[in-house]
Amino acid sequence: MLRVDRTLALALTRWQHPAGQRRWLAVAVIAILIAGATLLVWHTGGIRYAFSHIMYLPILLGAALFGAVGGIAAGLAGGLALGPGMPIDTATGEMQEPVNWVYRAVFFMVVGGVVGMLGQAVGRLLGEDPVSGAPSQQPLRQELGRSLETSVPGQATPRFSVLVAIFDNYSELVNTFGPEVGVRLIRGVVERLRFACAEDAGVYHLHGERFAVVVERERLDEVRAAVRARAMEPLVADGVPLYVNLTFGRADHPEHGSSAEELIQRATIAADLASRRGERERVYDVGSDQNSRENLILLSGFRGALNDGELSLYHQPKWHLGSEQVVGTEVLLRWQHREHGLLTPARFIPQLENSHLIHELTPWVVSAALRDLGELQRDGYNWHVALNLSARNLNDEGLIEDLGRALAEAGTSPEQLEVEVTESAVLADPEQARRVLGRLRDWGVGVAIDDFGAGQTSLGYLSRLPATSLKIDRALVQQLAGASSDCRIVESVAGLGRRLGMEVVAEGVEDRTTLAMARGAGCDIVQGYGICPPQPLETIRQTFAPERPANIHRRCTEGSPRLV
Ligand code: C2E
Ligand code: MG
Ligand code: MG
Repeated sequence: MLRVDRTLALALTRWQHPAGQRRWLAVAVIAILIAGATLLVWHTGGIRYAFSHIMYLPILLGAALFGAVGGIAAGLAGGLALGPGMPIDTATGEMQEPVNWVYRAVFFMVVGGVVGMLGQAVGRLLGEDPVSGAPSQQPLRQELGRSLETSVPGQATPRFSVLVAIFDNYSELVNTFGPEVGVRLIRGVVERLRFACAEDAGVYHLHGERFAVVVERERLDEVRAAVRARAMEPLVADGVPLYVNLTFGRADHPEHGSSAEELIQRATIAADLASRRGERERVYDVGSDQNSRENLILLSGFRGALNDGELSLYHQPKWHLGSEQVVGTEVLLRWQHREHGLLTPARFIPQLENSHLIHELTPWVVSAALRDLGELQRDGYNWHVALNLSARNLNDEGLIEDLGRALAEAGTSPEQLEVEVTESAVLADPEQARRVLGRLRDWGVGVAIDDFGAGQTSLGYLSRLPATSLKIDRALVQQLAGASSDCRIVESVAGLGRRLGMEVVAEGVEDRTTLAMARGAGCDIVQGYGICPPQPLETIRQTFAPERPANIHRRCTEGSPRLV
């Protein structure tokens, strides 16, 4: 039943918007029909006789295949074919008045245009995408709804999968070859997916460069193999074979969702994540889902949490290897959630960054960090305090202004404050990052590049950043005790940082071996559970008194990271 419905729906739209070679074939067929209709009118005695109505055939075909533009073009061609060269009667040779054939040509064009527009409107009503002509979101939801309806008690649960495909290099190709090629590529991808899936699966155009395929579970492996083999072959545009990179995300029913909405959303989440990570395909997993309902509920409680004092800053000391003492702390946000307990930033910061709430959080962090810094200074700690900024904060010039004002009001020396921005945040908009960080440096605020070595690195850019410190990513540092190649990488990064005049910090030092290697690699400062995990400020102050530098070697013991 499901397949019959789908076949009917597709049949209505399948022949619309032909792509590639089929487009030229369609144009040739229309031209042949126009020529045939003209010959027929001539041989049957001229325009006086009823055969001129045969010209509506190519006009309607042009409208059906190419929409209003196709209908008008076919109408004009048909009108001219039956125009000045066509006699009223071939026997007498009597020719038409220009007004007659002009009137007829205009009428043909109007008919072609109107039929084309009506066809497009009907297509949209049927849920067809105007660019590709493939069924889009509405028919997809209907099909999923029908499949889900069969989940009645007593019957086996239908098992099927939704695959969402992202045409990854679409923007790149459009920027290089122009929007007209883009439209042809989108249609080409739909064609390919349909061809690869044959009658085994429904193909939908979600929007833009996103497509969906619904496939019954027992055919999944077959369809995946066919799509891999066929859908990613180069598409030829103007004789140039262009590579199509498709990334797939998959959500299975019933494992990953019980409604059409959930399945589409989760397959999209998986595809987005796969695309960001450069993977070919990814199956949805709840752990990496930052958009679920649960997250929305969490975010909706965030403002309340901010006002009700559920947020706090933990501090993690930074240990200077030369002077053997703490020289500062990094503040790390914690949320004491009523239901979920103590939440670390990984659970909520990425979600906040996708909403405007990040702009409400950061001023709070700035003022709390400055308050803690003031308190430390009053009690004789000559430490600096570092806070984390996200990529979005770098675009918020107002925040930077507020930070300057808050610093002035707090009366703390700007040199005692440091901001940490990740390498990826800097690379999101390097020019903007350079401008904002430059202003902070002008005031005397320290700038650290966080998680260096975790992602893409632009060394050229690094040298132009006004940074004072380079924090080597935990993942690199933690390999120090193991692989010798990583040891050389950390050494090289530390050397690079020093040559650029930066202080080099090794993050995530958990044991004595790593500590010794970080020292050997030339790092200036270490930070990690082995020295001290993030703690409330009060606990840190009890452990590290200003007049009594603690002995790091007592704290950092092989294999037992959380010692303090
Ligand atoms: P980060 O700035 O790189 O902070 C270091 C993270 O590594 C912290 O995680 C810290 O608890 C953890 N860590 C420190 N030493 C060790 C170690 O020896 N072993 C291991 N396994 N982990 C260690 P946390 O507190 O969960 O924070 C995660 C990230 O969240 C931070 O990474 C930072 O990018 C972000 N973040 C934290 N607070 C804020 C904030 O107030 N605003 C913004 N925008 N981001 C924040
Ligand atoms: Mg940090
Ligand atoms: Mg870090």
